[in-house]
Amino acid sequence: MSAQIIDGNALAQQIRAELADKAAALKATQGITPCLAVILVGEDPASQVYVRNKVAACEKAGFRSIKETYPTNVEPAVVLGRIAALNADPAVHGILVQLPLPKQFDAELVLEAIDPAKDVDGFHAENVGALMQGKPRFIPCTPYGVMKMLEAANVPLKGAEAVIVGRSNIVGKPMAMLLLQQDCTVTVCHSRTRDLAFHTRRADILVAAVGRAKMITGEMIKPGATVIDVGINRLPDGKLCGDVDFESAKEVAGAITPVPGGVGPMTITMLLANTLEAAERSLK
Ligand code: NDP
Repeated sequence: MSAQIIDGNALAQQIRAELADKAAALKATQGITPCLAVILVGEDPASQVYVRNKVAACEKAGFRSIKETYPTNVEPAVVLGRIAALNADPAVHGILVQLPLPKQFDAELVLEAIDPAKDVDGFHAENVGALMQGKPRFIPCTPYGVMKMLEAANVPLKGAEAVIVGRSNIVGKPMAMLLLQQDCTVTVCHSRTRDLAFHTRRADILVAAVGRAKMITGEMIKPGATVIDVGINRLPDGKLCGDVDFESAKEVAGAITPVPGGVGPMTITMLLANTLEAAERSLK
């Protein structure tokens, strides 16, 4: 039997339309247009595509966006100076620095320079701490998008066995926190995990966030499980694929997200949601 496909494009479109309506209402009632500033350093092609997509999504939803690009060899002090200016600008509600940054940067220092009230990626230590305490202020966009997909697909979370493969600060760890807060029993796997398949086969909800093409195969999946594929990998033929071997996995899983068209569009959608929320909070 073939799994239900959780369509990230359709859900993203629906949520973006709701966000566009809310942004229009905010403008009409308060005279405020949500504004996201995006900083891109260097010429990494993938980062350029991500930034272009983020700016385009803002414009389509009626948000304002500011895109600032800097050459690879820019002095970190220049970027930090701009972050300080954006922090102080009341018309800017969200600030995002596209990662990865070139070698001369201390990424942590840059992320900590962003005003936590404008940290729409949710990477500032203060916001990470708030998430840990179960009082999130800005939820990191990718795991936030995954939670919205699970909700839309009516996946039962209470007491479910959730297994996350990957423990990065931007995906794996916040994903674990969010699922834990929804009463899942959470296991986090990583490159040193012994017998990965033992863990993945127990999962009612399996989230793959590794960055290795098709590493999760159908035989590693519990029949009927919900499989969320966060990975984005480029194959030698130029096509995109996830961390899950979609063809074998869809024959075993109960529900599955495709790549492309799964988690990716939801990530940008939740960036818009966080920016709108920052704009609304700026009124209080
Ligand atoms: P990182 O490289 O930061 O983390 C990868 C994680 O995978 C690490 O925790 C690593 O373990 C673990 N890992 C590596 N090899 C194995 C293995 N053989 N078995 C088990 N675990 C392993 O990646 P990110 O979290 O930033 O991204 C993960 C993927 O998600 C990438 O493909 C990225 O492009 C994609 N992505 C997609 C987004 C979207 O919008 N759809 C947004 C963000 C990321 P260890 O810690 O031990 O090294």
